[in-house]
Amino acid sequence: MNEVATSFAVQDNRISWIDEAGRTAHTEMRPVIDHPSPNHDTRTDDTPVDMLVLHYTGMQTGEAALERMCDAAAKVSAHYMIEEDGRIFRLVPEERRAWHAGVAAWRGHRDINARSIGIELVNPGHEFGYRGFPPAQMSALAELAHTILTRHPIAPRNVVGHSDVAPARKTDPGELFTWQTLARQGIGLWPDHKPHRPATHEPDMAHAQRQLGVYGYAIDVSGIADAATAQVITAFQRHFRPACLDGLLDGETAMLIDAVAAACGKSA
Ligand SMILES: [Zn+2]
Repeated sequence: MNEVATSFAVQDNRISWIDEAGRTAHTEMRPVIDHPSPNHDTRTDDTPVDMLVLHYTGMQTGEAALERMCDAAAKVSAHYMIEEDGRIFRLVPEERRAWHAGVAAWRGHRDINARSIGIELVNPGHEFGYRGFPPAQMSALAELAHTILTRHPIAPRNVVGHSDVAPARKTDPGELFTWQTLARQGIGLWPDHKPHRPATHEPDMAHAQRQLGVYGYAIDVSGIADAATAQVITAFQRHFRPACLDGLLDGETAMLIDAVAAACGKSA
């Protein structure tokens, strides 16, 4: 895994981006389908839109999710929903505050809805038959994210999953979501990481908790492997080590946590 150094530009409905091998790729932006939801309120002027939060819908169909997010009684929404076939629906204008994050925290901020754009990816989720995100859906997401990143000052480290901002409650978008693929396209953070460095000592829990906090998780530095810490470590693993979701601090997870914290130092 190498640090991702990519750049991109959006012009006239065309996205140009340079991948990590230095190749230039282009995509035409697909039309966005307006499907307004009543579930939003005002953003305050003093809060920047500096986060992008990704979700899965966790319902049996995309139509059902769209209906729920447009039902005033449900009081939930997102700015966008992306179907598995790549269709992009716009539910809430970006300048409005959508209701997707709920009780959450990141980098000391609690009102995540106030400072984020929320995107829902259609997927049945862990409850109804979790499955991989199809290439058509992922490329639509990359397109949309590229345009969002040109409109708002969102640092790579602030492109996160719902499970990152609410590790005790949420598991979306989940371990089948390929963060590294997105990062290769300049969306989100992926760490420098030299695998297979031999562990010379037991991982230090207090150090790991501190580093997880440096990245952005709400976590107490207690030195104790308590239940809340296990939830945060599991959320971290879903994002950066999806093959292992045990919530335990082994040498590999400790090394990855350090790598992510180090990458944060290089990113705004
Ligand atoms: Zn969610």
